[in-house]
This record gives sequence, structure tokens and C-alpha cells, in this order.
Amino acid sequence: MPSHHQFGTGVARGSISFVFDDGYQEIYQHVVPLLDHYQLPGVFAIPLDEHVISKTEHQPTAPLNDWLSLQQRGHEIAAHSINHLDLTTLAAEQLEHQLKEPHTKLNTTTLVYPGGAFNDTVASAAAKHYLAARTVVRGLESLSPADPLRLKSFNFTRRNFSVFRANALALYAWLTNSWLIETYHLIHTAERKTNASHSVPFADFKRHVSFVARLPLAVETIQTVIQRSRL
Ligand SMILES: [Zn+2]
Repeated sequence: MPSHHQFGTGVARGSISFVFDDGYQEIYQHVVPLLDHYQLPGVFAIPLDEHVISKTEHQPTAPLNDWLSLQQRGHEIAAHSINHLDLTTLAAEQLEHQLKEPHTKLNTTTLVYPGGAFNDTVASAAAKHYLAARTVVRGLESLSPADPLRLKSFNFTRRNFSVFRANALALYAWLTNSWLIETYHLIHTAERKTNASHSVPFADFKRHVSFVARLPLAVETIQTVIQRSRL
């Protein structure tokens, strides 16, 4: 999978990562084929317990093995703990268990904090197993992040997502040679309506991806950006 688009004689500037939390069926069914169509990699943060999200969020999720099969196609599977618990509430031993198991089982060095919840204790414990961890603290990142265990992102929901806004941010990341990490949860299609507040219309997301695919901006996994920054 090419990591940089060529534009004229120049090389891509800036980078964008599309991150999808929780492993929803809608994402597997609609977003994965869309990204594959453009040959763009996505990042999918999946809890090890494949039933925890459908139980707590009442939305169908795709099986863990389906997500794992995407690794061969250049997508990244990020850790999202075992049981999607608030990591800041756990005793040291439990915290270690929730962090270590996914790192080993999913063979990943990228973490996404469940519910975006982290503190200094959680981040230091995460550093034992992960090179990077994404938060939902709003902001653009540097291509050499100052604090890879507290990566900022733009958490798009029904309330704050628009094609214009997302495209403008992508353009800004390109102009400033920075790293835009976008966080998504659910998408909804015309056939399947949902009232979930963290859902974004698929038709709009599609327009955003087609815009990004035409920009000389690299679309990369978190792992790719982090590994390059460590060279
Ligand atoms: Zn989550």
C-alpha cells in the first residue's frame, strides 16, 4: 500500500490517520471497503472482549477475527483494552492486565484509551507495552509527536462533523506539514438510521475520503507515522 501520493514533482506533506473506535459492524461493512477502494489504510481500535461493546453500546460489532484479517491488507489494529473499562479507575495489577493482553494478542504497539480516559499513571503503564496511544484531546499533532502516549485527535460526532470542516482540517494539515488524527465511532447509512450521538453520516464521510484521496497528503496508520518519527 503506497504511503505517499505523488503530486506533480513534489512529495506529500503532512499526514492523516483515520481511526475507528470499538469495532462496529457498520464500519466493517461500509468504511473498510471504501478505504480499500482508495487503497488507504485505516486504524481500528478493538477491545479483546468482542461482546463488551454490543452489550454496553447496544450496537452490533464485527467479530475480532474479521478485524484481525485486515492486518494483512495494510490496516492497523490498535489495542483498546480487554473490557473497555475506564483505565484511570483500575488498580495497578488490573491496569497492567488490560494493557498487556491486547498488546500480545493483537501484536500491536498502538493503544487507544477506552473512553479517551487516561492520566499520568495510565500513560506510564501504557509506555511499557506501547509506542503510541491516542486520546480524544482535541488538536493536530506533529509528525514527530512531543508525547506519543498522549496523541491528540479530532473526535468527530454527529454534532461536530461536516465535510467542509473535515476537509478544511485535512488541507490545513497538508499546508502546515502536520499530522491530523481523526477519531470516529459509528457511521450511519440511509438504510440504517441510528440516533447515536457519536455517529457520522456515511455519505459525508465518503465525500471527505474522496477529497483526502486527491490531496497530496499521506494517509497512514499511527504505527507508520510513529515508526518513521523514531528513525
Ligand atoms: Zn471505545
